[in-house]
Amino acid sequence: MRKYFSTDSFAGRAFSKGDIWQRIQWASIAIAGSAVFLICLLTWQRLQAEEQLLEANAQAQHQSLATIISENLSQVMDRGRTVAVVAESWLGGDLEEAEQRLANILAIDQIFLNFSLYNTSLELVYSSTPAGGNAPRLEDLQSLLLGSDRSSTRTLAVLPTSDLQERRWATPVLFPVADEIGVSKGFLLITLDMGYFLSLYRNIDIGRSGVIHILGEDGTELAEARSEGLTHRLQAQKFAEFAAAAKAGKDSNLVVDLHGDGQHVSSVRRVERSPFIVAVSKELSEVRASHVRSSARVWGSIAVLASVLGIATWGLVRGFQRQQLLFSALVNADDENRSLIAQLTEEKARAVALASFDHLTGLHNRRMFNELAVSHLEVARRSRKHYALIYLDLDKFKLINDTLGHHVGDRLLQVVAERLANGLRGADIIGRMGGDEFAVLLTELDSAESIDAIAKKLLLQLSQPYNEIEGHNVQTSPSMGIAMFPRDGHDVVNLCRNADSAMYMAKRRGRGCYAYYDASLRPLEDRGLHPVQ
Ligand code: GH3
Ligand code: MG
Repeated sequence: MRKYFSTDSFAGRAFSKGDIWQRIQWASIAIAGSAVFLICLLTWQRLQAEEQLLEANAQAQHQSLATIISENLSQVMDRGRTVAVVAESWLGGDLEEAEQRLANILAIDQIFLNFSLYNTSLELVYSSTPAGGNAPRLEDLQSLLLGSDRSSTRTLAVLPTSDLQERRWATPVLFPVADEIGVSKGFLLITLDMGYFLSLYRNIDIGRSGVIHILGEDGTELAEARSEGLTHRLQAQKFAEFAAAAKAGKDSNLVVDLHGDGQHVSSVRRVERSPFIVAVSKELSEVRASHVRSSARVWGSIAVLASVLGIATWGLVRGFQRQQLLFSALVNADDENRSLIAQLTEEKARAVALASFDHLTGLHNRRMFNELAVSHLEVARRSRKHYALIYLDLDKFKLINDTLGHHVGDRLLQVVAERLANGLRGADIIGRMGGDEFAVLLTELDSAESIDAIAKKLLLQLSQPYNEIEGHNVQTSPSMGIAMFPRDGHDVVNLCRNADSAMYMAKRRGRGCYAYYDASLRPLEDRGLHPVQ
């Protein structure tokens, strides 16, 4: 078995690795999640900035257009003031020349529809069209000039457009007429063709929802142009937000809801020295349309990226899980191996025990006794000590078996083994050779006489009655044969054989005694026969 699988620390290492992998899994998920979150956050911020930039761009474009329109309208008003100077000469009495000049201006400048001249008493004194054309009502003129400084030479006013249906985009503008030293002489009413004016911008791309407004100072709509052309409403609308924005500053940008048309990005500009406001607007949704499309593309890409990242993380986590499972399997295999090894060791120990010991008495069996005796005799060869092998067999044991039962015989054999073990030293080797036959190797004895003393002692002890053996009092004795080392044999085989034959000699001599194999070594006082005392 390889050490790798059998070390105890392996399970611990695998556990800590599994723990680390668990952490790595969570860390991977957290990193991927954070990355996606961060990407989303940065993208959202960038898209927000782009959106603001788009609105700012749109407003800048609108502002430019509003500036151009207001400049042009300012020039128109300047031309109107020039007409007012001509009208003053008319009032000064230069009728023919002034009338001629006014007619020329009308013929050349298409934005001027007609002129009407009033004296300070608001009486119509001249009109470029017969019968006064579409001259405003006296009440309208009076209400317009009500409260204003009639003597001012700078007043420019737009008449109320009470009848839009009739006048279409005709915008009557009132210019004060004064002489060189500023004394008021009357008023010149010039009707401007705002339709013509706005048609000059028809080629400018203002977008699908783009709209240009010309408004009065109070925000009243005078003309409106959309991408589809000039539009006209029965009722003039009022754009108070634009009026407020224009009042606040010359150029203003704002986002406003144009009378239910939805949110519009608008740029407002007041026309210099004129009662007009120019506003250029576009629907917020149109401004943002390209941004919405690019946003959708960006979010789509991010969704794909997040999916790829998610799949990659999932794969990574699955990989880690597999590694973890593999390690768990290895840990389990390690556990199994270790328990198998323990089992095998136990089995081996049991096998060794079975092979070495007698299962009934616990003494060494014949094989083990022989092995041990061989190794002790090796030592004996180099020793001056005395060694002897005793073979002993119980007398008439078969009879005990037959009369009292096998179980009594078994128990008797166990008690005999105990008496043997108790009566001998730890250095001696005891074995059961089979049946009712035992062998003892006496080792490292100081004198040969000790052998005899031990033999006597054993004979005496084993011949004592055996009480309470499975409820019976049993009597037996051993017959013992003794072989001396090295005299009776140099090895275990010879010693055993000779001790066995000596033991049979004892049997033949009447049992319950011991006999030496070699009669010449017998003690002199006892010629090989030793009855129990
Ligand atoms: P002897 O005095 O000549 O030795 O006569 P014996 O009756 O003892 O005869 P022997 O030694 O030849 O027979 C031993 C008997 O022991 C034979 C056998 O039935 C019995 N035996 C052998 N092994 C066991 C055992 O494990 N348990 C029991 N109870 N009896 C056994
Ligand atoms: Mg016997």
